[in-house]
Amino acid sequence: MSRVYNFSAGPAMLPEAVLSKAAAELLEFGSTGESVMEMSHRSKEYQAIIDGVEANLREVMSIPDNYKVLFLQGGASSQFAMIPLNLLNGSGKADFVITGQWANKAYQEASRYGDCKVIASSKDKTFSYIPELNPADFREDADYFHICLNNTIYGSRFTKLPETGNVPLIADVSSCILSEPIDVTKFGLLYAGAQKNMGPAGLTVVIVRDDLIGKARDITPTMFNYQIHAENGSMYNTPPTYGIYILGLVLDWVKENGGLEGMKAHNEKKAALLYDFLDNSKMFKATVAGADRSLMNIPFVTGNDDLDAKFVKEAKAQGFINLKGHRSVGGMRASIYNAMPIEGVEKLVAFMKEFEAANA
Ligand SMILES: *Cc1c(COP(=O)(O)O)cnc(C)c1O
Repeated sequence: MSRVYNFSAGPAMLPEAVLSKAAAELLEFGSTGESVMEMSHRSKEYQAIIDGVEANLREVMSIPDNYKVLFLQGGASSQFAMIPLNLLNGSGKADFVITGQWANKAYQEASRYGDCKVIASSKDKTFSYIPELNPADFREDADYFHICLNNTIYGSRFTKLPETGNVPLIADVSSCILSEPIDVTKFGLLYAGAQKNMGPAGLTVVIVRDDLIGKARDITPTMFNYQIHAENGSMYNTPPTYGIYILGLVLDWVKENGGLEGMKAHNEKKAALLYDFLDNSKMFKATVAGADRSLMNIPFVTGNDDLDAKFVKEAKAQGFINLKGHRSVGGMRASIYNAMPIEGVEKLVAFMKEFEAANA
């Protein structure tokens, strides 16, 4: 078997230790005589698994008791509707910062349900930076304020949170959850699709403050109501049982590797390796500048489409896969989530040096 270095933005690499553990337990979990995949979600064996995963996530992320953890489906994209259907129910106003395609989708979907305002946007420069925010533009009576904390496609991230006062701050953390410590108390709600940094696709994690539950509009579908899922321990219907189990293994791995502080150090080291090379290369250039650079998703270009294509092709042949950039940015993008080992980045940089020398 030869495993490649997978730089996909998602679904993405999982730690090998997690896959091996899952493989070892695939046919029989513990001494249950069955696979986790085959378990009734109403069984006491499965209840122990989901309770353990929730406790693990609360411990790793230091989630306070006044927040619920919900294990849902439908991806981060369903949250674009679920959030307004549950929260855009006071003044009917919500504020948004448009830092990329996902932030914009959240804004567009919410706009179907209320008065949504763009506070700032970085569209003018292909979302290559985080715009300055003027708190005077924030609406004090808004039901929430939405940001995308890490912009998966464009490779930028917020390093300073907007001060929204009593207005709940909501963040899409799909591509940065578990990558470094996060102060949950600064947010009313956090949400993430699992397939970037938490596990396989199919699981969506929502962390929501208690006082924001129970405000859904009358028309909200039952399956889209946070209260229903909170009251039923994410078991109103069948939850994504296997994905939740894998998240548990990922959390064990995070804990064994220093928790979120450990992840931060590991991720900063990897990102620095690649950014340092990019900043010194004559051929490759990072598309995001300075402090706004993501630790997780690093887009870069040569400035020549043919050369970009040649690079992606040759990299693939060397076992560095999924380096093609998003079509809206072009060039390349290396997504280096928690599971990407340092050697993966070191070897990629070594290959980029060779490529640069050979094509100068
Ligand atoms: C991947 C991603 C999404 C979309 O997630 P789905 O689970 O496919 O709906 C939304 N927001 C961000 C920041 C993402 O990285």
